[in-house]
Amino acid sequence: MNTSDFASLKLFITGPTLVREETRQAASLPEFGHRDKENDKRCAPIMEHLRALAGVHDEYEVCLINGSGSTALEASVRSLVRDDETVLNISVGAFGDLYHNIAVNNGKRAVQLRFDNGCAMDAERVRAALEEHAPAVVTMTHNETSTGVTNDIESICSLVREYGALPLVDGVSIFGGTDIGLLSARPAMYVTATQKCLALPAGFGIAFVAPEAMAKAETVPVRGHSSDILRQLVSARKNQMLTTPNTTLLNQMAVQLDYIVNTEGIEARFARHAAMRDQVHAWVEKQDGFDLFAQQGYRSPVLTTVRAPESVGFDALKNDLKERMRVRGYLFDPGYGKLNTQMREAGERPIFRIGHMGDITPDLLAEYLDELGEELARL
Ligand SMILES: *Cc1c(COP(=O)(O)O)cnc(C)c1O
Repeated sequence: MNTSDFASLKLFITGPTLVREETRQAASLPEFGHRDKENDKRCAPIMEHLRALAGVHDEYEVCLINGSGSTALEASVRSLVRDDETVLNISVGAFGDLYHNIAVNNGKRAVQLRFDNGCAMDAERVRAALEEHAPAVVTMTHNETSTGVTNDIESICSLVREYGALPLVDGVSIFGGTDIGLLSARPAMYVTATQKCLALPAGFGIAFVAPEAMAKAETVPVRGHSSDILRQLVSARKNQMLTTPNTTLLNQMAVQLDYIVNTEGIEARFARHAAMRDQVHAWVEKQDGFDLFAQQGYRSPVLTTVRAPESVGFDALKNDLKERMRVRGYLFDPGYGKLNTQMREAGERPIFRIGHMGDITPDLLAEYLDELGEELARL
């Protein structure tokens, strides 16, 4: 097979993200037995570094689940929602809708509270929904990848607690890019994945599970097999995975998390993302006719959504601009498909995304923005 034909593009999409050379090379480290002591050499530090990134010690257990972020979201629903209870799914965009669909497709009694695209969760409307539906479990999205909104999970989790419900958080697209404040928000479960801010290939869901979630799961009669967090945790306590893991990805993960924690440093990583958010905002301000889409005060540190002027069509973004950026060596993100379909139908302007997550650096981002600006001017 002629693999020289595979393009090496710099991914500025919102996952999968650009993988550093050292992490790429780690894919050629030796395969190993996942029940052998070789497993421990990779997984003991992986577990420890994940806890460090989350800012927790023994308040949460952490497990790796084969699959991806959605698999871990599904495990949270199947393990923590009984069929005789209501789950409230708060959504501010496509990924909030995904959590709701997962609940519905698992036969749970699910109701959705939907905010407009671009807006963050609003406490008063959440309170009204809690009063109306008296849910046992409430799901929410930390960072809505389709709209670039980062929600205040701390205040909404505490509101959910006032009503005696268990909060669950989808942090798939933000974990590793900012301080997630797990100990302040204290959800029963917080879920993420490898291929976004951790800058690894996809392959595992990652779940932080509080003791109260384990107690709750005991009361849920049918939790499935690989979707059962209790079974998952039995393996995780041995630094193992319940089902056979992708050992290539574990090799890469061991190397990448060690780099994040011990070479770049957690604080430096978070600061780099905050600086890149400011960098993109400053660039957008200089582009005539373009503006920031996400609600002010809730704009993501790891991706930015940009509303294009009327003169730039949906198809121009998706086809012309994307292909021109490909020629320059980049994969451009023309916006979340379903969101742009809705915007088009509503007669609104198109939205594109700039992913600045993972191991994108301010220098790389500056080059990208320069080149993107040149191409936008040519549209
Ligand atoms: C990407 C993403 C998901 C889905 O994760 P997969 O790893 O693709 O299953 C869920 N939620 C959010 C917020 C995401 O960004």
